[in-house]
Order: sequence, then structure tokens, then C-alpha cells
Amino acid sequence: MAEEKQTLNFIEQIIEEDLKTTHSKEGLYFRFPPEPNGYLHIGHASSICLNFGLGLKYNAPVNLRFDDTNPAKEEQRFVDAIKKDVQWLGYHWTKECYASDYFEQLYSWALLLIKEGKAYVDSQSSEEIALQKGTPTQPGVAGPYRDRSVEENLSLFQQMKTGEAPQGAHVLRAKIDLQSTNMLMRDPVIYRTLHKSHHRTGTDWKIFPMYDWTHGESDYIEQISHSFCTLEFLPHRELYDWFLDQLVDGSKLRPKQREFARRNLSHTLVSKRKLARLVEQGVVDSWDDPRMPTISGLRRRGYTAASIRNFAEGIGVGKRDNLIDVSRLEFSVREDLNKKANRVMAVLDPVKVTITNYPQDKTEWLEAENNQEDTDAGSRQVPFSKELYIEREDFREEANKKFFRLKLGKEVRLKNAYIIKAESCEKDADGNITEIHCTYDPNSKSGSGTQESLRKVKGTLHWVSASKAIEVEVRLYDRLFTDPSPDTHKDKDFMDFINPDSLKVITGYGEPSLKQLKVEDTVQFQRLGYFTVDPQTTEEKMVFNRTVGLRDSWAKLTE
Ligand code: ATP
Ligand code: MG
Repeated sequence: MAEEKQTLNFIEQIIEEDLKTTHSKEGLYFRFPPEPNGYLHIGHASSICLNFGLGLKYNAPVNLRFDDTNPAKEEQRFVDAIKKDVQWLGYHWTKECYASDYFEQLYSWALLLIKEGKAYVDSQSSEEIALQKGTPTQPGVAGPYRDRSVEENLSLFQQMKTGEAPQGAHVLRAKIDLQSTNMLMRDPVIYRTLHKSHHRTGTDWKIFPMYDWTHGESDYIEQISHSFCTLEFLPHRELYDWFLDQLVDGSKLRPKQREFARRNLSHTLVSKRKLARLVEQGVVDSWDDPRMPTISGLRRRGYTAASIRNFAEGIGVGKRDNLIDVSRLEFSVREDLNKKANRVMAVLDPVKVTITNYPQDKTEWLEAENNQEDTDAGSRQVPFSKELYIEREDFREEANKKFFRLKLGKEVRLKNAYIIKAESCEKDADGNITEIHCTYDPNSKSGSGTQESLRKVKGTLHWVSASKAIEVEVRLYDRLFTDPSPDTHKDKDFMDFINPDSLKVITGYGEPSLKQLKVEDTVQFQRLGYFTVDPQTTEEKMVFNRTVGLRDSWAKLTE
């Protein structure tokens, strides 16, 4: 038996260490904390797979927590989309939580800080506050309101809360250390006023807690043992701990924040804010446009949940931010669909073939295997007739020995059908081929077992019956950006790198069995790639999205 070798990633090592020292297995608790200000993207998939994956591994609960503290940006439709996507990825949360459910608790803790002289109302502008904070090399200085009395602070904070004070007139700041080498510790703002309706609390609150004040405290309320976030929060950890120091009651579990590297994907963006710009400016049609790196866009493109999970697991968790080439994601979906997708035939750039020795009105229904990778996939019937379509690029009048497709005087096999030989062709005035005349060998039917059917010919082509094929719309997608990291250029905006050819819409001809497919079903168009049925499909017209080609065509181009 092969030795099973399991290495722990650094996050699991942290947990294993804690299990030996401070934590019990029963005490483990994780969360995934999205802000409902957009749709989840492939970067979030890493965080989802990490947190929910740990839940499965340690049999521990995992909360889905909406970090909803900014009514200016958050909406219910984003909450709904996030829930749908996490479920679709195959995960189940223990509790559905909202930071906004803790507003009352956070508020009473803020009062406690004020009463203990650890928080104060500052009535300066944000510019003044920023100036007084100093720089990393220069300590901050106290502003004129730092030593307000507890009574005055309580009264002003009350006015902030009720909306009596105008929006933006004051903020509440934690009183920590203006000399700290960590800028975030220099009296961070913990509440600001915002007279906007919140998607859950409506107009009840005029004050909204800031991220740092909310996050750790929400972790504490939910008794999250390990709060994993991305590396940019490393300097926030000191603040996370300071807030907990003020509140933690020894009888309860104290959460700990640990950081892992953000995952970036090449030729796209992984930031809700930036993706929102693509939607708002009409570069793409919607958040679930199949070109978007959102979970919903990938789903519509034909990605399977398993392929996204495998991708996220494959890249794992890291300690340093890095750029993952999108071809890895494409590899992952190809690998999964190769096992799962039925094979069908469709011709996307047709040229007509007439089989001169085949009866005019005859149609034969030939047996075709659905998936040679999956013996349970069964088979279907495809119609064969005198007039067919093949791909234009599969025929040449003359070609060298390496061209294993159809050329004059030579034979190829038509997949699941007969061996044909090209005899002559017709052309239009510009020299474009309009029709190919072929003969077929009636004894060469695939699977018939005859000597002729076993005859080896070099090329096998896909085809459809011209009269029986159905017309379908096919959307061919390419990378949304021409640059691998469009949002990292100092002097340029990511909009400068939009690929103008990211979508090409064509008409294709598919075998009639395509009609049985439902929205989101994915099939392999043989020799072409994987294609999925788009929700815009109607009774009259099927629409297919190309998920991915069979091979990585970009790798070849950049070699
Ligand atoms: P965005 O800029 O896209 O809004 P965010 O980090 O602000 O990203 P949140 O909704 O706050 O988005 O993220 C929820 C969780 O997902 C956080 O724990 C965050 O660290 C994690 N996350 C977000 N983007 C990535 C990424 N590219 N790689 C790994 N984890 C990520
Ligand atoms: Mg965010």
C-alpha cells in the first residue's frame, strides 16, 4: 500500500498547535465574512474553501457572516447572490449572521469604552485628523478634543446616534496611543455618522461602526476561534487584539486573527469594487456575464463547482500574495468536464459536403457514444444524410503529409459514421470553397464490425447533417484583459487593458440531440471545446457559451 503522506498547510499547523495548547476540538469555530457590496469572485472562493474546508476537516461549525456596516454600498440583492454562490459551491453554513445584528451590542460596548476614558468624540474634519496622525516615521499629536470629559463624550455620542448632530460633524475614536509605530493604533475612528438607509436596519441607526471595531467583536460574539483574513489585515491585528483586551471576559473564548495571502488571478480583477465598475460602465452585461471572474459568471460560463473547489485547493493557502495564471483555472475545469461532459457534434464554421453516392432522401440514425470516459453515460443517435457540414478548416484542396484532415483524393473517417473520400470541390469567384463532393464507403460504418469499418484512416472529423442540424448561437469568450495584471500599473487604469475581442458571437450547427439540453448543462463539442447552455436560451434559439477550449491556446501563443 502506498504510504499516505499528508502535509499540513500553515493554517492547519496553527490550528494543530492550538489544539495541543489552548484549544479543544469542540472549541473550533470558523466564519466566512463577506461584505454584501458586490458578487463573490474567484478570490473569495479561496477564502470560502479555506474556512468551510476547515469546518469539514475538523467537524467544526462555520458561520456565514455578512459584514454589513456600510449602507452606502451594501444591498440585499448582494446578500442573496452571495448565499446562492456559497451554496452552489457546495458548502453549508452553521448560522447566517449579520454584523448589523450586533449594532446594539457594539454600541453598548462603545459606551463602556467612553466611560472608561478609552474613547472620545472628535469634532474635527477627517483632513485635520489625518494630519495629526503623523507619518510612520513621525509620531502623531493630540487634537483639541482628545481630553473631552466623559459626560461631554456621552452626550455628543448620543447626538451622533440620534441624528441630532449633522452627518460628518463628529466621529468616535478609540483613545489608544498617538506615538505607536503602528499608525492604526493612533486613535482609530470606531464610529462615523451616516444618514442613509441600511438594507436591514433601515433608518434606525445614524452611526455605523468601522471595520476594525466590528470585525473582532463580531468574532467574539459568535465565539469564532480562528478568524482568517487576507494579509493586508496583518497590521490590523494589534488593533483587533486591543479591542478584545478591553472586552474579553475570561469565561469566554478569545478569537484570534491570522492572515493568509490574497489570491490574484491573471488577466482579470479580483476586487468587487473594480468589478462593479465593469458592470456600471457596460464593459460587461452584468455581474454574471460569463467573462466575469465572479462565481456566478463562472457558473454561467459552464464552470462546475468541483472545478472551482479543486482549483482553490490546488493553489492552497500561502503566506505571500501571488498571481495565479488563469490557465490553471481553465485546466481545472477541463479536467472535471472531461470526466462529466457528454460528447456531441457541432460545426461552428461550416462548409457543405455532398456525398455523391449516398441516396438523396435517406437519413440514417447512427449510434454515438456519449462519453468514452464514462461507461454509464450511454449513447444517442445522430442523423447521417447526403448533405453534411464539416468545419471549413478541416478541408484543403492540397496539403502536405501532416494534414490529417480531408484533402482531395484522400480519405478521412466521419466520427461515428463512414469513411469518406474527397473527389472534387466548387469555389466562388473569390476562390472560397462552397461545396466539397465526396464519396463514402458504405461498408465502413463505425462499430459495424466489418473489415472496412476497422480500416485505419489517419483523420477523424466531426460533422452534422445539413438538413437535420439545428442552428444555435454560440458565444466565444476570450480573456477580458490583454494584460496579466491590469490593475497594477501605476500610470494606467485597468480600463486601458480591456480586450476588445473578449466576445465573439457566431451561428453554429449542432446535432439535433442538443435540443434535450437544459440551461447550465455542459457538453463537449467534439474537437472544439466545452460549451454550456446559457439562460438566455429560448424555445426558438439555443445559446451556448464556450466554457473553455480543449487545449490551452494561449500557452502556444506566448511560448
Ligand atoms: P473585495 O475587494 O473584492 O471587496 P474584500 O476582501 O474587500 O474583497 P470581503 O467581502 O471583505 O471582500 O471578503 C470576504 C473574505 O474573503 C475576506 O476574509 C477576504 O479576506 C477574503 N478575500 C477577498 N478577496 C480575496 C482573494 N483575492 N483571495 C483570498 N481571499 C480573499
Ligand atoms: Mg472589503
